[in-house]
Amino acid sequence: MRIGTAEARKGGVAKGYVDLVSFPTGGTEKAPVMIARGEEDGPTLWLTANLHGNEVAGIPVVHRIVTEELAERLRGAVVGVVTLNPSGLRSAERTSHYDSRDPNRLFPDFRGESVTQSTQELINKRIFRHIERTADALIDLHCSNIGSVPFSIRDRVLVPPGEEDAPEIRELTEMRDAVVDAFGFAAVNGSGAARTVEEDLHRSLSGACVNKARVPAFTAELGSDYIVEREVVDAAVVGVRNVMRELGMLDRDYEGVPNVGDVPDEFPTRRTSLSSPVSGLLRKRVEPGELVHEGDAVADITDSFGETKHVVEAPRDGWVTSFQLGMGVEEGSLISYYAERAEDDSLIETYEQ
Ligand SMILES: [Zn+2]
Repeated sequence: MRIGTAEARKGGVAKGYVDLVSFPTGGTEKAPVMIARGEEDGPTLWLTANLHGNEVAGIPVVHRIVTEELAERLRGAVVGVVTLNPSGLRSAERTSHYDSRDPNRLFPDFRGESVTQSTQELINKRIFRHIERTADALIDLHCSNIGSVPFSIRDRVLVPPGEEDAPEIRELTEMRDAVVDAFGFAAVNGSGAARTVEEDLHRSLSGACVNKARVPAFTAELGSDYIVEREVVDAAVVGVRNVMRELGMLDRDYEGVPNVGDVPDEFPTRRTSLSSPVSGLLRKRVEPGELVHEGDAVADITDSFGETKHVVEAPRDGWVTSFQLGMGVEEGSLISYYAERAEDDSLIETYEQ
């Protein structure tokens, strides 16, 4: 198996680079890639890290998974991309040098390509071509805001009307759910179809995997951005090994995923956000991961002197995944991401082109 210059032989690990884009002054931006290939054939799992350059916790997960020791007992192959955003890694920024837009909204669109393609779109397309050609499953390793609890996001599978029950769509969704469950972090459903398309979430890496390549994939949020939280990385490493077991790449002696960021698991949830209709200072009333009921206070927005101007209430039962950084809140601005109760959710939704 060959990805860029990394060519893995059976029972070994290969390291190399995938060319992303040429520099105007010579040389090339490259993504470092590591492949562990087992003696026996089997599925290919992709692990991608650091697409947002300030989200670094996925990098040690790739380093710890893709090892000689794994190659000795693996069926199939694991392709680990250490960073999908080398320029963002260098500057510790979410976006890349090549585009001011979110790089995780610029993967190929299942509805067809736009006529003009930006540099970042070309970079993403190059990587995606390798994924489409080789991946049986993909985990895209991200982080949320500082103080976030770890969780996984399940993307919507968008299908034309009438195809909801197509066997390949059912199979894709079941396999995606099986790998999310095996990973073991709290699963939060992505936004509904309308918001998914409005926010270009179908063009995130995992969104493009399920919607364009029809490859089971999900996004793992490994706690805080900017820093590496050791216990979250430990849990994610176990989670990835359990995904490999689920895919038949390792013997099925599942390990217990260490309990990090204890969150309620009594009901399914959907990712949404809470915002404030007034400007003021943020005073949190709950911690991320704490169960709240519909109508409970999540935060106060106070005036400069600490007097409450507005109480932000939970729209439904659920839990805050993270609060925005800082204390200053402006009218209409987002104060937190929220996992709201969503028993009524369907993860396969129709979409009219
Ligand atoms: Zn991210």
